[in-house]
Amino acid sequence: MWQAQVFTLYPEVFPGPLSKGLYGKALSKNLWNLKIINIRDAADDKHKTVDDTPYGGGSGMLLKADVLAKSLDQNKIKDHKIIYLSPRGKKFDQDYAQQLSKEKSISLICGHFEGVDERILSTRNIEEISVGDYVLSGGETAAFVIIDTVLRLLPGILGNENSKVDESFENGLLEYPQYTKPQIWEKKAVPEVLLSGDHNKIKHWRLSQSEAITRDRRPDLWQKYKKD
Ligand code: SAH
Repeated sequence: MWQAQVFTLYPEVFPGPLSKGLYGKALSKNLWNLKIINIRDAADDKHKTVDDTPYGGGSGMLLKADVLAKSLDQNKIKDHKIIYLSPRGKKFDQDYAQQLSKEKSISLICGHFEGVDERILSTRNIEEISVGDYVLSGGETAAFVIIDTVLRLLPGILGNENSKVDESFENGLLEYPQYTKPQIWEKKAVPEVLLSGDHNKIKHWRLSQSEAITRDRRPDLWQKYKKD
C-alpha cells in the first residue's frame, strides 16, 4: 500500500478532493492511505506556538525547527522520503511523480508564512520540491498536486490502465486532440480520420497532432523529444 503523510497547520482541508471518485474508492479498499498530521500538536507551550520571527529581521514568520522536528520524529516511518513543498525546490514533473509512485511512503511538509527554519532541511534529510514558478500561500495545494499525480500512476487505481500510456508527458509529448459525440456540433465536424476505423492511420494522425502541438506550445519538450 502506498502511503502519504501530510504535515500541515490546516488538517481540515484534507483529504478534500482526494477522497472523491476513484481515489475515495481506492482509499476504502486500502490501495493507498493518507495520514494527516497537525503540526500544531507538536508545539509544547500553552499557546501551541509553531512560528517565530526570523533572525536578521524581515517580514513574516517562520515555522520553528524544533516543533517541526518533533512532529516529524513522532511520525517517522522507516526510509520514508520527506519532502518540503517550496518554490525554491526542484521542479515537480511526471518523471518525478513516477519515482514517487515507487516509494512505499512519502511525507509532505506544507509550509506557511515565510517558510521554515533552514536547519530542519539538512537535519532531517528533506528534499525541497516546487510545483511551479509561482508563490502559494501554503504548501497544502502543492501537496494535493503531488498526491493526485502519484495516485493515478499506482496500479489498480484508475479504471483503464491504458489511459495512462497515452497521456501528455508520458511519451515526452503533449496529448493529441480528442472528440466525442455528437459527430457534428455547432457546425464543427470531428476529423474524418477518426471515423475511418483504420487504427494505423489514426495512430499516425494522433502522433503527428501530438508532435505539432508540442512543437508549437512547448519548445522545451520538443527539443528534448527530438534529442531522445
Ligand atoms: N518565502 C518563501 C515563500 C513562502 S510561501 C519564498 O520566497 O521562497 C508559503 C509556503 O507555501 C511555503 O513554505 C511552501 O510550503 C508553500 N509554497 C509556496 N509556493 C510553492 C510552490 N511553488 N511549490 C510548492 N510549495 C509552495
